[in-house]
Amino acid sequence: MKIAIAKEIEVGERRVALNPDTVARLVKQGLEICVESGAGEGSFFSNETYETAGAKIISDVSALWGEADILLKVGLPKEHEIHQLREGSVLISFLNPLGQPEVIEQLANRKVTAFSMELIPRTSRAQSMDALSSQAGVAGYKAVLIAAAASPKFFPMLTTAAGTIKPAKVFVMGAGVAGLQAIATARRLGAVVEAFDIRPAVKEEVQSLGAKFVEVTLEEETVAAGGYAKEISEASKQRTQEVVTEHVKNADVVITTAQVPGKKAPLLVTEEMVQQMHPGSVIVDLAAEQGGNCACTEPGKDVVRNGVTIIGPINLPSSMPVHASQMYAKNISTLLQYLVKDGELQLNFDDDIINSTCVTHAGEILNPRVKEALV
Ligand code: NAD
Repeated sequence: MKIAIAKEIEVGERRVALNPDTVARLVKQGLEICVESGAGEGSFFSNETYETAGAKIISDVSALWGEADILLKVGLPKEHEIHQLREGSVLISFLNPLGQPEVIEQLANRKVTAFSMELIPRTSRAQSMDALSSQAGVAGYKAVLIAAAASPKFFPMLTTAAGTIKPAKVFVMGAGVAGLQAIATARRLGAVVEAFDIRPAVKEEVQSLGAKFVEVTLEEETVAAGGYAKEISEASKQRTQEVVTEHVKNADVVITTAQVPGKKAPLLVTEEMVQQMHPGSVIVDLAAEQGGNCACTEPGKDVVRNGVTIIGPINLPSSMPVHASQMYAKNISTLLQYLVKDGELQLNFDDDIINSTCVTHAGEILNPRVKEALV
């Protein structure tokens, strides 16, 4: 069985699906791994290190795509790449199935069996395959470093001969995986951290990281199936804004990470709230690509409003490609080993991991939400 690693061609994507250490482990288990020449360049993994790990380096891109039994990628394949895949072959990658269902349709038309890394269930059994979490952790960490670099202030409290410096106040909005990593990172840098989320269950996790939880009591259920947040009503949004406004106003740094799967990101920081912040403060909006949690966010740009810098980074995990690729490789190779037994692809659709992750098979779109999104 031939496993192929493609070079990512999306502008700005530096990650690669497998790092050389993971390749070495898979080769030891008897898998044949082909790596597109230069696939690891962005992550500083040379062709030679892949060869030493036991992979074959392939320069002919269409041969790599056309001969693969299973192709592993990080980002969405382009249409011309999908056409190079063999009918009946397998693709495992982030596929943005609800955001770009037309790509899933192209994969189904090509009779490719496609697995979407976004759809790995968030269960303990699938934890080591959970690429959304591993990459969100990278983003949460990096968001704080970006904020610290953009802030005109120190993060830690300093007692020096030149006087005492007060610690920075950081407010994290959305305490999922990225938010919790942002809290931990800001705490390590010495900031005083507050955090807010509409899921009350995160209170303990926030507090265990040494941050204060800002509580908002809402008169509706905020958690959907799978533990994800629901989109809340207008009344709840207003109630939330009343509470958080004061915390945004007092913060030196606001990190926003709030998402609702399959929906535009919720608006948490309005223009009026930005106007009330003091000049020099910084907002890093991790939801920039999903429409932004801040009204002033422009994806991929830094904008300044009344002296407040609003940063809307795109694809932060790619800015730390060595460890982001290492973690992604662990996630995707665990799924690969779960799917391939004795050199054969074993598709048991009664298994919850396979059932939720596999989006196309034998010319059909399997995921009902993707089908709905296409109508
Ligand atoms: P996410 O990226 O979908 O959203 C980020 C955070 O934004 C969430 O905590 C969400 O509650 C919050 N949010 C949404 N709307 C909001 C609003 N209007 N105001 C404030 N906050 C808002 O979340 P995620 O990090 O992918 O985590 C989603 C769920 O999956 C969580 O319940 C998490 O605990 C769970 N999870 C479980 C596992 C596991 O069991 N293996 C692993 C990872 C995550």
